[in-house]
Order: sequence, then structure tokens, then C-alpha cells
Amino acid sequence: MIIVLEGDATDSEIGAVLKEAGRFGTAPAVSRAGSATVVRLPVSGKGDAGDRLRAMPQVRGVVDGDLPYVLASRDFKREDTLVRVRDVVLGGREVVLMAGPCAVESRDQLFSVAKQVKAAGARILRGGAFKPRTSPYAFQGLGEEGLKLLAEVSRELDLPVVTEVMAPEQVDLVARYADMLQIGSRSVQNFPLLKAVGRTRKPVLLKRGMASEIDEFIAAAEYILAEGNDQVVLCERGIRTFDSRTRFTFDVVAIPLLKRLTHLPVVADPSHATGMAALVPQAALAATAAGADGLLIESHPDPREALSDGRQAVTPEELARLAPQIRAVAAAVGRA
Ligand code: PEP
Ligand code: MN
Repeated sequence: MIIVLEGDATDSEIGAVLKEAGRFGTAPAVSRAGSATVVRLPVSGKGDAGDRLRAMPQVRGVVDGDLPYVLASRDFKREDTLVRVRDVVLGGREVVLMAGPCAVESRDQLFSVAKQVKAAGARILRGGAFKPRTSPYAFQGLGEEGLKLLAEVSRELDLPVVTEVMAPEQVDLVARYADMLQIGSRSVQNFPLLKAVGRTRKPVLLKRGMASEIDEFIAAAEYILAEGNDQVVLCERGIRTFDSRTRFTFDVVAIPLLKRLTHLPVVADPSHATGMAALVPQAALAATAAGADGLLIESHPDPREALSDGRQAVTPEELARLAPQIRAVAAAVGRA
């Protein structure tokens, strides 16, 4: 079992827990993770013993098993966590549409697409200012200039924005402009970065690594929770498989599985998951039917001219046609 104590538990409170845990006849292992103290015992936490520990002061929770995460676990917290991005709530009844370009390219591009995705029903604007590109010679994003444009458009249209942060030293800068911090697929195991966003009080959109196992992905979220930030949204965005016909393979059952294993909201990114604009609507609808709490969709006014990920961008008109279908599927599975 794993016992999690509050970070401000005193030595005597920790001592009392260790004494109680010592009754199992095995030595407990104590470690610290961010704002929590964690005690591991190689015995089950089911039954009276676990209940007695659960009732002790400063014990946040007791979970069974030996997974690499506790705070993110559904066993640790039964109720769904709601994540608030300004006035938008993820993890409630609404399937939240987040849309915008892969990268912020110019004021005209951003304003034009933002107005149209808002009209189509998007509640959060996406757009990268720092872009993780495979080639160092590819467009790397506008950097702080892009962040300023996002903040400007956000103010003007009253639309919260999510944007990627790639390095721990960028966190303060990005957090000044953005409403939600995105951790990209390639950064899912950048542990110093996870800790740094965990120390902010900004909501975090954590993308699954393209080669992350489910438990590794949840453990990445645990790094953020362990620092005291529980405003984390998990995003399934496709994984690497043997098939290279699509850009990635959309793991649609990861959505209900993650929702069983954790209490965090789970969204899907059908754009990166498929890499093909023509497949985005079906993947978006499948994700909605599978219980996604939101969708992150790339949209560009002129996909052929996009500086990144044009092949997977839907036009704002296509998004406007897709949005009512998403609402219809959402309604069919008891969501709004
Ligand atoms: C993106 O959202 O533009 C992006 C780079 O996503 P991912 O990290 O999932 O590849
Ligand atoms: Mn992209």
C-alpha cells in the first residue's frame, strides 16, 4: 500500500503513521514528492489496517498496489476533478471544444481563425508560440511575440488560451500570457518541466508521449500533482505503432481507460492523432463517444499555407460543420 501524508505533516505525525504502519511487521519506506510525504509498505491497504491509517491526522489517502502514482489515482480520489480555465470547466458535463492553429503565425492569421473557431463553438483558443519541431531548420514559432498576440486576441475575443511551454526556464514567461500551459508529447517526461508547471497555479494540458504507456503517462501527471497543482488535463494525441500510413495511431480506448484509472479530465487531440484533416471529424466524434471531456483541434484559415501541421488542419468552415455533430454525439452519451 501507499500512504500519502500532507506536506506539512510534522515529524511526530509522520512518526505516528510509521508506528501504525510498523504493526504490519515490514519496514516502511518513506520518501518526499513535491508537497507530499509518501510511505510505502509491501502489504495490502484493504480492510481495517488501511482504514485505521486513513483515519489518522495528516493522512491524505491510502491506495493499494505499487503503481508509480497515487495522487492521480481514482482510488485516491473518487470524484472527478474539475479543471477551470478562466470561466471554462473541463471534467464537467460539457465536452469542451479547444481549437486554433498549430502555430501562431501572424496577427491576421490568429485573429481571423480565432474569430471563426469561436463562432463555431470553441471555448478555448489554442496556438503555439514555442514549437517543438523535428528539424531545427523548420519554423520554430514566434516566441514571446506569439504569446503577446495570443494574449491580445484572448482579451479582444474573451477567449482563454492554451499554449505550449517547452522548458522550465520558459514557464514564468508563458504563464504571464497564457491561461493554460500545454506540455507537449515530446516533453511528457521532462521531469524538471513537469515540476516547474506543478509549482504554478495555472491549469496544465498534459499530452501523452507518443511512446508513453498509460501508467507512465499518469505518472507524468503525478509529478505535477505532487508539486501541489491538481489542475491537470490529460490529452490522448496518438501513439507510435508499426503503421505509418497515419501520422500516429489514435488510441481511442485510452480515453475511458484513463478516466477509470484517474480522476483527471481527459481530452483528445484528433489532429495530431491522425495527421490527416480528412480523418479529424471521425476521430473527434469517436473521442466524444468514448467519453472525452474535450477536443483539441487544429484549424487554419488556409491549411496549404500553414507554417506547421497544415496537412492535419481543418478549415474554420469544416470545424463549423463538425461542431454540431460533436454536440449531437455528446448528447447521445449524456454530455453537453
Ligand atoms: C501541438 O499541439 O501543436 C503539438 C506539437 O502537439 P504534440 O506535442 O501532441 O505533438
Ligand atoms: Mn501541431
